[in-house]
Amino acid sequence: LPNSIGFIGLGAMGKPMVINLVKRLPVGSHIFIHDVVAAAVEEVCASFPDAIVKCANAKEVAEKSDVILTMLPEGAHVKSVYLDPATGIAAALSSSSSSSTAKLLLDCSTIDTATNLHVKEQLSISSPTTSFYDAPVSGGVIGAVNATMAFFLGCSPSDPNIPRLTALLQTMGGKVIPCGGPSLGLAAKLSNNYLSGIITIACSEAMDMGMRAGIDADVLASVFAAGTAQNAICDVFNPVPGVCPKAPSSNGYQGGFRVQLMRKDIGLAVDMARRLGTRNALGTSGLGVFTAASEAADCKDLDSRVVYRYLGGKED
Ligand code: NAD
Repeated sequence: LPNSIGFIGLGAMGKPMVINLVKRLPVGSHIFIHDVVAAAVEEVCASFPDAIVKCANAKEVAEKSDVILTMLPEGAHVKSVYLDPATGIAAALSSSSSSSTAKLLLDCSTIDTATNLHVKEQLSISSPTTSFYDAPVSGGVIGAVNATMAFFLGCSPSDPNIPRLTALLQTMGGKVIPCGGPSLGLAAKLSNNYLSGIITIACSEAMDMGMRAGIDADVLASVFAAGTAQNAICDVFNPVPGVCPKAPSSNGYQGGFRVQLMRKDIGLAVDMARRLGTRNALGTSGLGVFTAASEAADCKDLDSRVVYRYLGGKED
């Protein structure tokens, strides 16, 4: 593992990722962090004052680190953190003030593939020795806290950096899956969330239909688990309150994966499908459902499985 790592973006996902990283690094290592929210930086620094060092901006992080991870909300934030001419990572890589010549950069944010490829291209012009990867994650905040997330890596399985990248990412997660080439980690992540978002709607509608016909919710879930409808949303994150006691739906839809994030990801997936010319009949209507649920007063800010409530599902 490298002994100087940079981490930018200390939100719901980034903060637990940094904490797992710092706990697993060799003694004497440093993590250089930055976030536009000063309180987020102070909180992480206070927990590990010997290992964590705050930086004024992304450029300073890049000047001090051999490897940098970013965990940012959307493509515009990623573009600015990497490419801002005054404060961005690229500014450090192209200037002689940088102490290191070869850097590994990993963006773990869920963004569109076009922005990812644009950032990669710009970095390769300003700093040819730098390697930039997309490495989006699946597993949510619980996976980030427990270091069980999966990473979908935008590179070929024969990329020479894979052993280093895997060792690093496994300090924060479980599986690391090389998806074939640049931006394909993101294409895989968006395909995954397209499917799980659509399954969430289908599961909500099918549960409500069976329950209103008179079938007990637990019996119906066990029918799906034993039948051809078996899926992880139904088994682990069932949208009907009470079916899975540990699921967000059984805790007032608190925690989990926010409905606005699912709306964002399905929107990115539908854009990707349109660009590729593939069918997305379910994606378009699913996007409508998640958009409306994201804006509904009794659903906004809650776990994405709250679409069951938005769709008028029976809640006792
Ligand atoms: P978040 O909004 O909680 O955190 C993002 C952090 O980035 C914030 O602390 C923000 O202040 C910081 N930031 C924004 N612009 C910045 C800039 N220019 N410089 C430095 N810091 C900046 O978001 P999150 O939930 O941690 O999600 C991050 C990414 O991971 C998103 O792309 C999201 O889609 C993806 N993701 C989230 C989850 C989840 O369950 N929350 C699961 C999988 C993937």
